[in-house]
Amino acid sequence: MTARTHDLAAITALGIVFVLMPEQVITLSTLLIAVFANLIGGITPDIDQPTAPFWRNLPVGKYLGKIFDKMLGGHRFISHSILGLALFGYLCHLLLVFIHPIMPSVNITIVWWAFMIGMFSHLVMDTLTKEGIPWFLPIPVKIGLPPMKSWRITTGTWPETWVVFPLLLALNVWFYMHHYHQILHIIHTKII
Ligand SMILES: [Zn+2]
Repeated sequence: MTARTHDLAAITALGIVFVLMPEQVITLSTLLIAVFANLIGGITPDIDQPTAPFWRNLPVGKYLGKIFDKMLGGHRFISHSILGLALFGYLCHLLLVFIHPIMPSVNITIVWWAFMIGMFSHLVMDTLTKEGIPWFLPIPVKIGLPPMKSWRITTGTWPETWVVFPLLLALNVWFYMHHYHQILHIIHTKII
């Protein structure tokens, strides 16, 4: 899937989790940083791709992308597996603990979950593509859904642009309309 679809999928997943499980009060700064972390998580698995948006915007990104590509075993390898999810989850945790003293009002547990939800949504979306992903590395088998390859999506082609992306948008519209009163309640009582 393209970065645009991954970001939409990440924010969709985060919104659903946030609205359905608003257990605690959250500061506005935590919410904003959590959304940012979620979008980053949504494109993180593709750092194994030298042409990923992650790298395109950096001056030496092309070269860094190639290095990461080799380190992570090529495209759709470690960063597209449960092993990679655990590894990047651990790295994200280390980073958040390190930067927490700079922004003590931010709840890093929520930010961490937002990142993980974004990254997990990426793996789910890539499972729907022709290539599939090696969920259970080191078992080197790429898994995709539906099981029939011909029914799956090729990244960047019309089914992604005109079916998957609009469906995700429609899901957002339906979800936020359906939970309108709940969302108003969250905004008034849970976000400070
Ligand atoms: Zn990917």
